[in-house]
Amino acid sequence: MTMFRTAVAAAALLLAGCQSSENDQAGTANLQQGAAGIAPILDTPEAKDNASFARPLEARVHHVALDLTVDFDAKRIGGTAILDIDRKPDAKEIVLDDKGLEIESIADGSDEPLPWKVGATDEKLGAPLTVSLRPDTERLIIKYKSAPDAGALQWLTPEQTSGKKKPYLFSQGQAIENRTWIPTQDSPGIRQTWEATIRVPAGLTAVMSAPKSSEPITQGGESVFSYRMEHSVAPYMIAIAVGDLAFRELGPRTGVWTEPVMLDRAAAELADTEKMVAAAEKLYGPYRWGRYDLLVLPPAFPYGGMENPTLTFLTPTFIAGDKSLVGLVAHELAHSWSGNLVTNASWADSWLNEGFTSYFENRIMEAIYGPKRAAQEAALSFDDMEKARAEEKDGPNTRLNLAAAEAVPDGGASGIIYDKGAVFLRTIEKIVGRETWDAYLRSYFDRHAFQPMTSARFLADLRANLVKGDKALETKLQLDNWVYKPGLPSNVTRPDPAAFADVDKAVQAFSRGGDAPSAFAGWTTAEKLRFLNKLPRKMGTARLDALNRTLHLNEAANQEVLFAWLDLAIRNRYDPAVLALERFLTSQGRRKFVRPLIETLAEDQQWGRPIAARVYRVARPTYHPITQRDLDKLKLLA
Ligand SMILES: [Zn+2]
Repeated sequence: MTMFRTAVAAAALLLAGCQSSENDQAGTANLQQGAAGIAPILDTPEAKDNASFARPLEARVHHVALDLTVDFDAKRIGGTAILDIDRKPDAKEIVLDDKGLEIESIADGSDEPLPWKVGATDEKLGAPLTVSLRPDTERLIIKYKSAPDAGALQWLTPEQTSGKKKPYLFSQGQAIENRTWIPTQDSPGIRQTWEATIRVPAGLTAVMSAPKSSEPITQGGESVFSYRMEHSVAPYMIAIAVGDLAFRELGPRTGVWTEPVMLDRAAAELADTEKMVAAAEKLYGPYRWGRYDLLVLPPAFPYGGMENPTLTFLTPTFIAGDKSLVGLVAHELAHSWSGNLVTNASWADSWLNEGFTSYFENRIMEAIYGPKRAAQEAALSFDDMEKARAEEKDGPNTRLNLAAAEAVPDGGASGIIYDKGAVFLRTIEKIVGRETWDAYLRSYFDRHAFQPMTSARFLADLRANLVKGDKALETKLQLDNWVYKPGLPSNVTRPDPAAFADVDKAVQAFSRGGDAPSAFAGWTTAEKLRFLNKLPRKMGTARLDALNRTLHLNEAANQEVLFAWLDLAIRNRYDPAVLALERFLTSQGRRKFVRPLIETLAEDQQWGRPIAARVYRVARPTYHPITQRDLDKLKLLA
């Protein structure tokens, strides 16, 4: 109970820190507190998380201990969650987030169970699970199971894996899915330490987003794995995968987990991982999580990657055979700083996770693969931002800090959250100079390590530690325009037009009726994508034939290139690409690829919609529940 008061005092200190020149001091004080005790909560209006039912300033969870059995037949995870809580002395109840959990009992260790109730269900957010507290309750012991349709969990049959022999399970917690399998306060601003004992059928391996705390034990047909995260993390970062998994070291503190049949290809593609960690540390300070391992998942994984601490989850679609898509690895690694170390307090500020990370990713790519590749990837990202601005017509969704209405988890266009966020930081870098900016950013991660962040807090920190009252600089930076206004401020740093000079010439030549570029095969992935994305969106069959024949696009091994081509092809009802399209949509479930393609098809009532329906009927069972939920809205199977 005394710890609660410490947390509140710390929050007040954090606020004071934002507005005073003593920011350094405040940040250091909180850093110590975060490591030794309980992470502070930000008590400011813009830090309020509308996607959680928790009221953490009254009572909050600070440690989660799970003892769970994974039941592949029933598609459930069940057992016990013990929550250590921090509360005001007069708090009568604690509110947790719950989406479809089957609760059996809740107790606090004394003889009598605690009364609890589940409130009205919101379709997106789930329901509040309110537990009555006794005056001395400091711990909740919850016996429960997840529902078979838990949104965080995807259960794969052996046929849906690469090895085809054993079943597979993986979780995806971000943004608000972990409440479907863990009864806790599922809000990014409520950091929690955690540990887990996981029981799985013998022969399967369970990995989690934390260091292992003891060696696995197998007896009586069951294997038991134990993990413990000593650092406080946002609860969406608790992650699990269970399957036929093998491990290979990549470097002294890096390695890859995947199905045995995938191990060689995955390890080859990830060969630069150790170098990337070193490059990231050189930029923005120590990697604080111990090991950095990667888990390459079966193709159904809905995202490119998920930055689960100590164990990034990755789509296998990044494997191109030539490391041309490892920007994805740089991105997930960068989240070890922006996102995992300093975390958006609410989803209205997810640009603080994703924009910072997209910027940082590009700096890692520059350090490892040189300025040309980095400049090209930055220019592509700029194009993505411009596309999002055009789609949103520079409306309110093009603000970095989203208004409450748009601030739902998964709200906001990635072209804004990721790409405009990165362009903003690149613009600051250009104005203040790289050396000054890097020194600031490094100190920012140190000051706020293991703490929640908001736009207001970041801007206050930037003003205290970088602008330092320099009025001319303040005017030049246009900070508030960038964060709170839609569209693009006038001081934007644009990408170097030279980055794609040759490619843009080839686009013009082809658009005027010339040949497809013979140099294409030797181009970088960024160059290929630039070419395909800049071509006119409307083209006749003969021109598409010319492209496909010369560039072998239907057979592209690089999934990003294949996606860009298929997008162009279906917009022009290009029949010769349909077979490649069906293969692509039924062989992987990455949402970034399958969602726009199926949506575009569905809009074309006559030609595209029947194809979309045919494909979705086959592919739906292999897609993640998150992807299914998006695509079910199209009512293709009705
Ligand atoms: Zn990210």
